[in-house]
Amino acid sequence: MSLRQQLRVPVGQDFDLSTVDPSSTPGLTGKKASSKWARKKLKAIGDGLSLFQEQLFATATVTGTRRRVVLLLQAMDCGGKDGTVKKVAGTMNPGGLSVVGFGKPTAEELRHDFLWRIRKAVPPPGQFAVFNRSQYEDVLIVRVHNLVPPEVWEGRYDQINAFEAELTAAGVTILKVMLHISRDEQKARLDKRLHDPTKYWKFDPADLQERGFWDDYQSAYNVALSRCSTEIAPWHVVPANHKWYRDWAVATLLHETLADLDLSYPPPSFDVHLERKRLAKA
Ligand code: ATP
Ligand code: MG
Repeated sequence: MSLRQQLRVPVGQDFDLSTVDPSSTPGLTGKKASSKWARKKLKAIGDGLSLFQEQLFATATVTGTRRRVVLLLQAMDCGGKDGTVKKVAGTMNPGGLSVVGFGKPTAEELRHDFLWRIRKAVPPPGQFAVFNRSQYEDVLIVRVHNLVPPEVWEGRYDQINAFEAELTAAGVTILKVMLHISRDEQKARLDKRLHDPTKYWKFDPADLQERGFWDDYQSAYNVALSRCSTEIAPWHVVPANHKWYRDWAVATLLHETLADLDLSYPPPSFDVHLERKRLAKA
């Protein structure tokens, strides 16, 4: 079974995050379930990702296909989105990659529909984007704190599904990943940030307040994962207490997704023999 199948949130069913052990390592058993094995393997997968990325870019350049890819990451605070971006996206060519973070909306963003800023970040054909947070914040933090009236956030699940269907039709492959940590692991990571002067900058006192809403966030995640895991853009939950597992799993999900696209180098748009002869005389 592919990792995508193992980690997929079933479509059209009620999903409960508490049924997934954040310390588990699905797909890695025995001696493979170790930091050493997973870190080594990550390197090899990364090489494969760079190759796919180059083929995606070359094909779009030469044949004009509209194919592009978005890796969308969501997680609780300290869930490891930044680390994942560094480790997984770090294996790719920066020229064909954008990493976009979606924080608290700016005044301008608030004047538009919630999908406005997301649309602007969709990569052009041939390119890759990583979304560090996403349109889902508008049914997570916004729902937990009722930043807009319930009837407004309630309508957003369907709007998000319609939006993702539209993107898919326009050639965008969307890989949605939730990095799932435990409440204890979050505490340990916050504690680390408070005990290491080189990590103070990562600590946000507001995160402690949000931690008080842990259960509300988990419920909001359950609804979003249940309602927005669709055939065209399913959700995947990656147990993320072990960073080595998390990085291996996200890289593997991405690799499986790209392998499905049947990428290859485009054929020449010129007569190779003729050009060789011309070059010989040039
Ligand atoms: P780090 O983990 O390094 O702190 P981060 O992703 O938490 O990174 P921040 O800039 O600290 O980055 O936080 C972004 C904040 O913006 C989060 O608390 C997030 O919930 C919030 N946010 C994102 N989108 C929205 C939104 N649409 N409405 C309100 N708040 C949002
Ligand atoms: Mg933060």
